Amino acid sequence: MTNKTGPGGDVRLTGIAKTYGAFTAVHPLDLTVPQGSFFALLGASGCGKTTTLRMIAGLEEPSAGTVFLGDQDVTALPPYKRPVNTVFQSYALFPHLDIFENVAFGLRRRGLKSVKKQVEEMLELVQLGEQARKKPHQLSGGQQQRVAVARALINHPKVLLLDEPLGALDLKLRRQMQLELKRIQTEVGITFVHVTHDQEEAMTMADTVAVMNAGRVEQLGAPTDLYENPRTTFVANFLGTSNFIEAEVDAKTGEDIVLKAGGGKLVLPEARCSAPAGTGGKVLVGVRPEKISLTHADDAGEIPEGRNRITGRIADSSFIGVSTQYVVDSPVCPDFEVYAQNIDRDPRLVPGAEVVLHWNPAHTFGLDAAQD
Ligand code: ATP
Repeated sequence: MTNKTGPGGDVRLTGIAKTYGAFTAVHPLDLTVPQGSFFALLGASGCGKTTTLRMIAGLEEPSAGTVFLGDQDVTALPPYKRPVNTVFQSYALFPHLDIFENVAFGLRRRGLKSVKKQVEEMLELVQLGEQARKKPHQLSGGQQQRVAVARALINHPKVLLLDEPLGALDLKLRRQMQLELKRIQTEVGITFVHVTHDQEEAMTMADTVAVMNAGRVEQLGAPTDLYENPRTTFVANFLGTSNFIEAEVDAKTGEDIVLKAGGGKLVLPEARCSAPAGTGGKVLVGVRPEKISLTHADDAGEIPEGRNRITGRIADSSFIGVSTQYVVDSPVCPDFEVYAQNIDRDPRLVPGAEVVLHWNPAHTFGLDAAQD
């Protein structure tokens, strides 16, 4: 008998870990997923995100630690006794049943006779009211996945777990389904925990993202926070592209750190520095390409005061429609190329041109140069 009437509340993992023989898939992990949130576990293949999800579902037994749903310790409960349900990448619909019966399945299994109203409501929720009498093979991949979501929601779980649910869809459909799932989550108001390796997907959908790397949560936060304030090079690179400049702390002025880099000076707000920043300390200065503008060296005098600036020479450029992307060699960071983006179409900005790269110091973040 399915029991989905358990507690709501936060999903709380305390010291949860999973080992397979000598291999540790998930290192002891403390994680709270707030009730009603859309939470994403994001990471590359093999980082332990599915294993973490499966431990919440009860499909994988933790080697250590406790899973709480609200105040209830559910670690020892089998999956069907937890108030959770899971949607997998493979929709696993019953091919011989129509859409209505696929969604009704969970209710019928519990012995309910009058299922019509609930199934119809659920089909409306996923916008498949018109498709009730079709068989799964008559629906598109995105529609089939919505049936799988409806089927998982029909028993009113407190938490819906989604394991790469959009992985089998083409890019366009995936983008549509991301918005669709977000809408459904907002409408039903329950907690969604979504596993994905696609950073754009996690950032589009989730309120909170946990970036996993090699069995650990490397950083957890709101998408904008992770993007703008990554604390490790892994997170900075996993969520987009970043430039890195090695610099040394010179002084502190008010709320800023002043750094020396290749004979020049950079300013970094102290609040955006996750490195120890004593004088003489090494900091890896990060800045996203789209935050950097290029000005031809002849016009350097026109750059407003107060911007961070480094000199360089354009190595390559590519027009991408809305903007042009540049690869720049700079003596300030001899070990890295600098990536920048400009919306101005200055015809002098071609490979070989001397330029000044400049950006607002507020868009700078500082990482511990000793990490990794
Ligand atoms: P993917 O996106 O490829 O599914 P993931 O981040 O979800 O990756 P997990 O499936 O959680 O990763 O696996 C984490 C690690 O644990 C991987 O290295 C995997 O090979 C290993 N692993 C998972 N299940 C088992 C198992 N039953 N026995 C041994 N090792 C396992």
